[in-house]
Amino acid sequence: MFIMQLRKVTAASAAVLALALSATACGSSDKDDSGSSGGGKIKVGIKYDQPGLGLQEPDGSFSGFDVDVATYVAGQLGYKPSQIEFVQTKSADRENALARGDVKFIAATYSITDERKAKVDFAGPYLLAHQDLLVKKASTIAKGEDLNGKKLCSVTGSTSAQNIQQTIAPKANLKEVGTYSECIAGLQSGSVDAVTTDDSILAGFAAQDKYKGQFKLAGLKLSNENYGIGVKKGDTATVDKINKALEKMVSDGSWQKAVDKNFGPAEYKNEPAPKIGAIVK
Ligand code: GLU
Repeated sequence: MFIMQLRKVTAASAAVLALALSATACGSSDKDDSGSSGGGKIKVGIKYDQPGLGLQEPDGSFSGFDVDVATYVAGQLGYKPSQIEFVQTKSADRENALARGDVKFIAATYSITDERKAKVDFAGPYLLAHQDLLVKKASTIAKGEDLNGKKLCSVTGSTSAQNIQQTIAPKANLKEVGTYSECIAGLQSGSVDAVTTDDSILAGFAAQDKYKGQFKLAGLKLSNENYGIGVKKGDTATVDKINKALEKMVSDGSWQKAVDKNFGPAEYKNEPAPKIGAIVK
């Protein structure tokens, strides 16, 4: 008797599941799902190695402020968390990933700049960060000029590397790599004297258990990094939707919650939520 009932329930839920699946399949065809592999998925570019912002955990899940922003935004575009497929978009790959349509949008510590705006469109900004330096606790490097003649690490295709070469310390011995975790490994081993990028990113690394007590941030605010959400050039409909989503994320308290959860452990003192369209030069 019990078994019979169970069978009935199972059959009934199978029918419901089938309906749900076909509804999803239908739904995806009306959705603007360029950048998706079909089946109602949305592909979103994030970083995979930046603790507190975009990090792939050992179990394969993702954490960080950018991940939470991306998940909220995708939700407002009509996608459940299970429908999001995260894709790694390294600093130097972001414009091409959008141009090719590999991803629908990118939330990856992606600063809005005029140079990038020639190739992609941005929603936001949703966070204001500042370029800074990370050095060993005992280091005497304390300001930008101290970097001249020193071994410095940053990432190819980042504003951080560009600012060093153009203004902050053109005579620094700059080593450019693909990701910030490679720079941090070099700082620990002593192959570089300093790492430069956004304070938000550096604070996340410094707070990791394996590095606790080893590094310090210079606290210099060497630039203004206005994080935007990158979309394919010309996709203004998506920019508008994402801007509405970001406004809602701030007004309903989700933005602050994501800040507390992701920046709290690193004791990163972030700037207040920016207004949409308000770029700090
Ligand atoms: N926010 C800066 C940039 O967009 C540095 C961080 C990064 O490379 O993602 O270039």
